[in-house]
Amino acid sequence: SGPPKPKRIKALDPDVVNKIAAGEIIVAPMHALKELIENAVDAGSTSIEVLVKDGGLKLLQITDNGHGIDVGWPGHDMLDRDDLPILCERFTTSKLKEFEDLSSIGTYGFRGEALASISHIAHLTVTTKTAGSSCAWRAHYGDGKLVPAKPGQPAAPKATAGRGGTQITVEDLFYNVPTRRRAFRSASEEYAKILDVVGRYAVHCAGVAFSCRKHGDSGVSVSTPSAASTIDRIRQIHGSAVANELVEFKVSDDKLGFRASGLATNANYHVKKTTILLFINHRAVESTAIKRAVEQTYSAYLPKGGHPFLYLDLEIEPNRVDVNVHPTKREVNFLNEDEIIEMVCDEIRSKLAQVDSSRTFLTQS
Ligand code: ADP
Ligand code: MG
Repeated sequence: SGPPKPKRIKALDPDVVNKIAAGEIIVAPMHALKELIENAVDAGSTSIEVLVKDGGLKLLQITDNGHGIDVGWPGHDMLDRDDLPILCERFTTSKLKEFEDLSSIGTYGFRGEALASISHIAHLTVTTKTAGSSCAWRAHYGDGKLVPAKPGQPAAPKATAGRGGTQITVEDLFYNVPTRRRAFRSASEEYAKILDVVGRYAVHCAGVAFSCRKHGDSGVSVSTPSAASTIDRIRQIHGSAVANELVEFKVSDDKLGFRASGLATNANYHVKKTTILLFINHRAVESTAIKRAVEQTYSAYLPKGGHPFLYLDLEIEPNRVDVNVHPTKREVNFLNEDEIIEMVCDEIRSKLAQVDSSRTFLTQS
């Protein structure tokens, strides 16, 4: 009977397109949280508080003290002049104008997709106050648009009391994606991933106080004051066993266009699994190439099966980095990757050798 007849090609309903895109960017609560933390840092916050219920599936709330969102002059014509009505539309951003700007991007965000995505797969509430505004404004979003807080009420943003900064509340994540929702078996597993994300940014973002709390718990799981040093931040989050055995390193190369600095454990410390807190141009990312090279470097210094802890802050000239290769921005590509990794590992190796020889010297004398 021959091959099946082709079906006609049709454009997808925009709502379907938006939900598919949202599912690629926000795979788990931790991805929503990462975007929200990055927005708060982009806004110049010095305090970021995270509140979590049911591993982030029931509630994910982040409160910052940054510059807030400009709602313009909320008068009668606000629906066509101001930022709140379009805040959660796809591809609305205050950070990027031309595609070329991507090569010099200094902020985490650039696609204007995070809030839009979240609004398609959760109930989203935004409360924000800029320094110039006499009150805060609260708006509720669904499927990219302003929606009423309760059916029958007006959808327009409402004036309310509030501190300077922004509070984003994400409720019932994946409520309309039942297959995704069912895939999460344990709230504590998702909470552990959330703590990992908060912990990474808490170590990296000098000058920013972080806290993370589970709803209903009296204590906080993460708490770093804004004035804490990087080593103190590592001590708070990863413990003294790590923080007491760190060596500092720094290396740069103009031709390769990079600067790297960080803290790495010495030969006195080893655990079963490698921990790498990797930041490339201030984004928390992952790199299997870097992990492999680091483990190779340490294999000469640690007992078999022993692994290090490493915090690596890598800054690469923005025009050598492609940040737009991964929907969750988890990985980035950059030029001369092998050479840069080799220089970083050589530097760590020389620090390890110094510590190692001083130790041998001490035990001999
Ligand atoms: P992007 O970060 O890529 O611009 P988002 O969807 O994450 O896209 O955010 C859209 C816009 O909302 C941002 O460009 C910014 O202007 C504003 N915004 C979001 N979160 C905050 C915040 N915490 N403080 C101030 N402005 C914010
Ligand atoms: Mg963003």
